[in-house]
Amino acid sequence: MSDCLFCKIVGKQIPAKIIYEDDDLIAFNDIRPAAPVHFLVIPKQHIDSLLGCTEQDQVLLGKLLARVPHIAREQGLQAGFKTAINTGEAGGQEVYHLHLHVLGTPEES
Ligand code: ADP
Repeated sequence: MSDCLFCKIVGKQIPAKIIYEDDDLIAFNDIRPAAPVHFLVIPKQHIDSLLGCTEQDQVLLGKLLARVPHIAREQGLQAGFKTAINTGEAGGQEVYHLHLHVLGTPEES
């Protein structure tokens, strides 16, 4: 998917503030944050949208979701956070590489 924006972030062809990376996933700060902390978690593998997912994707999707609390805690969101996956045109999806939004406000320390 050479013309996919988020594949280019995975491939380090365009810059992003990467806050987590492993073999399957990458998380980076949203360029237009809608909260004090706003990052996106994506699979490195190109998947257009949740609409295109099948049972074959369940291990990867489970891994993505299970990693969220670890990254969120590292970003100061111990008390909780909001998550969203915008799906398809009717769901407000603008970038067609599956991504989970995580938004929150860090606790005062
Ligand atoms: P929406 O814009 O309606 O939230 P999406 O759910 O598809 O649609 O979200 C795409 C997200 O990607 C937006 O929050 C946008 O700010 C973010 N974004 C776009 N380009 C970049 C980029 N280069 N680096 C980080 N985030 C980006």
